[in-house]
Amino acid sequence: MDFLEKSHELSNIKKVIGIVSGKGGVGKSLVTSILASAMNKKGYNTAILDADITGPSIPKAFGIEDKARANKLGWFPVKSKTGINIMSINLLVENDTDPVVWRGPIIASAVKQFWTDVIWGDIDYMFVDMPPGTGDVPLTVFQSIPVDGIIIVTSPQELVSMIVSKAVKMAEMMNIPIIGLVENMSYLKCPDCEKKIKVFGDSHIDEIAKEHNINVLAKMPIDPKLASSCDSGSIETLEVNYLNSISQILDEMEE
Ligand code: ADP
Repeated sequence: MDFLEKSHELSNIKKVIGIVSGKGGVGKSLVTSILASAMNKKGYNTAILDADITGPSIPKAFGIEDKARANKLGWFPVKSKTGINIMSINLLVENDTDPVVWRGPIIASAVKQFWTDVIWGDIDYMFVDMPPGTGDVPLTVFQSIPVDGIIIVTSPQELVSMIVSKAVKMAEMMNIPIIGLVENMSYLKCPDCEKKIKVFGDSHIDEIAKEHNINVLAKMPIDPKLASSCDSGSIETLEVNYLNSISQILDEMEE
C-alpha cells in the first residue's frame, strides 16, 4: 500500500532496543515480551516491532486477535490488553497460520515499512524482536532502523561463543552499543527441593561475556509458567522477576 505522506513523521520514538539471537527458539520473543511488559507497567509508552517475519510469535504471546487497520497516512499498531503498541506480519496477513516464505530482501523491506509506514505516535521504548541469526536479514534490518542498543539472547545448548562473537561484530559494524547478554533456559528449579538443575550443563556464559567485555544481564530458568503464559496469550499479566534488573538498566538509559 502507498501512503500519501510519510507516516513516520507522525511517530516520535525515543529509544529503540533490538533483541537478537543466534537462531530461532531460544526465547528471543519471550524476552522481548517480558521486557516490553515491564516497561509498560512502569508507565512508559511502549511498543513492539515484530521483525521476526518468518516466526512471528509476539501477537500470540499477547493474545491479539485483531488485525491492524490503515488509513491514508499509514498503518496503526494494534494495542495489547495493557496498552502495548504492536506491529507484526501476523496482524496484516489474513490467516496467521499461513507461512511467510519471503526471501531475505523482501523480509528486510517489510520490516523497514514497519518503521516508516506505521503511525506509532509517542513511544518511550520500542522493542524490536529481530529476525534470528547474524546474517544478511538482521543486518539489513539494523541498517533501516536506528537501534540504540541490543540485547543478545542465548541458551546453553547453543555454540554460545560463536554466536556472541558474531553478534558483537555485527553490533560493531553498525556502531550500536550492546546492552548485554541474557542466558535463557539456564536451569530448571526442582519444584520439590528447589535445587537448580542445569539441564544443558554448564554454559560458560560468564567467561564468554568477560572475553568480549559485555555484561550478563540475567540468567532465566526454564519455567513452565512462561511457556503457558505465551500459549494462552497472557504474558503481559504474568508476574515475572527474572529480567527486573534489565528494566532498571533501560530506565536509566540516557535521553
Ligand atoms: P524465539 O523468539 O527465539 O524463536 P520464543 O521466545 O518464541 O523463541 O520461544 C520458543 C518457545 O519456547 C516458546 O513456546 C516459549 O514460550 C518457550 N520458552 C522460551 N523460553 C522459555 C523458558 N525460559 N521457560 C519456558 N518456556 C520457554
